[in-house]
Amino acid sequence: MLNTRTFSGGLHPPDLKTTGGAAIIPLPPPKKVVIPLSQHIGAPGKPLVTVGATVEKGQPLSEPNGFVSAPVHASIAGKVVAVGNFMHPFGIASTAIVIEGTGEPEPPLSPVATDGLSLPDEEIKKRIQAAGVVGMGGATFPTHVKLSPPASKPIDTVILNGVECEPALTADHRLMLEEPDKIISGLKLVMKVLKAKRGYIGIENNKPDAIRLLDEKLRGEENLAVAPLEVKYPQGGEKQLIAAILDREVPSGGLPMDVGVVVQNVATAAAIHDAVFHQLPLIERVVTLAGSCVKNPGNYRVRIGTPVNEFIAAAGGLKPEVPLAKVISGGPMMGLALFDLAVPVIKGTSGILCWSAQEAALRPETTCIRCGRCIEACPMRLLPQRLKTLVDHQRWAQAYELGILDCMECGCCAYTCPANLPLVQSFKLGKKVVFAERKREADAQKAKGK
Ligand code: SF4
Ligand code: SF4
Repeated sequence: MLNTRTFSGGLHPPDLKTTGGAAIIPLPPPKKVVIPLSQHIGAPGKPLVTVGATVEKGQPLSEPNGFVSAPVHASIAGKVVAVGNFMHPFGIASTAIVIEGTGEPEPPLSPVATDGLSLPDEEIKKRIQAAGVVGMGGATFPTHVKLSPPASKPIDTVILNGVECEPALTADHRLMLEEPDKIISGLKLVMKVLKAKRGYIGIENNKPDAIRLLDEKLRGEENLAVAPLEVKYPQGGEKQLIAAILDREVPSGGLPMDVGVVVQNVATAAAIHDAVFHQLPLIERVVTLAGSCVKNPGNYRVRIGTPVNEFIAAAGGLKPEVPLAKVISGGPMMGLALFDLAVPVIKGTSGILCWSAQEAALRPETTCIRCGRCIEACPMRLLPQRLKTLVDHQRWAQAYELGILDCMECGCCAYTCPANLPLVQSFKLGKKVVFAERKREADAQKAKGK
């Protein structure tokens, strides 16, 4: 086993991981699912069904619309009752397919058994795309695209991300304990397709049982190893993971493939195994339910498309004596506050946190005291205080020069700021504007060249 490693910057928020000992509980199929066509980065798929259609569990509901696109599948058997705009957990309305279940007992999907590792690489990628596999750590990048780097970017190392550095989340931890063989199989498939020589599973030291188990499973595998990592947020960021394990720095504006690496989440690796060995589509995932308002915090296997309020109810509901103040999709550092609990669990939903007023309390905003704590905490070595001033004054070109597009929105600066400045909100806005400006400039240059 390797020695513990880490990256520069970052911080240690309270761990709040109370559900790590809670085995995954599969929830029964919900009565209704709302399945957005867009659950990934890239073009939404084209719908294949219309209102009134009868669908089987696992049936494709859409086809990819281009290379950077992924299909979605029916997560329950039933009837399509609507195809239209529904609220998405990202806070926008987007096209979704609504299925009402038959209410009949469900037969399990019939897995087709193949030795996935003996398949040609193109067939492996085809199966991954057909199953709708996307990054399940929250990034939701279509997996088959990540497995198709240009020939000029050879990949020598694959890292599986089992860090789960966000406080409160334990879904990946449980998956590593309960489905380690699938995860290792997914890692081998990714390495085969990319012709990578080394594979690591990065896990923070606060999960010693997962480190021990996977280390045992990898004994005798010369090119595979567990990389135990120091507990520090955001250790699970791709760039931080690569720095910690391989001591390689992804250049500003670059991607892991620029330094010969591909990173996949452990849940994605398990889904890759199911897609390739058994041709099973991605129709469910493990979600941590936590926060002081829920009766039964734990880890649940939930059908994609289950409305969040129905998920909470199926898991035992809320405590009547603790009023609900805020619900977050994802972790407390990078998750999104939900404004509507009818939005569905999607492929990238790692957790649902139900917080009381005390947990959600906002600290009052004051003025910057130039303490420099945000600079020390930033894992991307940015100057958050300076960047905020530039965004406030709409100095987009300077914000770009200072690297605003490298901000990973991890929230370390805001967490540590004694003035409680809304730094991440500023950077989200700034990144959008700077990105749009750069695209406009590039388009204008292209037009001139014609
Ligand atoms: S949110 Fe952006 S600026 Fe703030 S610490 Fe994270 S990477 Fe740095
Ligand atoms: S941490 Fe907050 S108060 Fe301190 S320099 Fe950064 S923005 Fe200013």
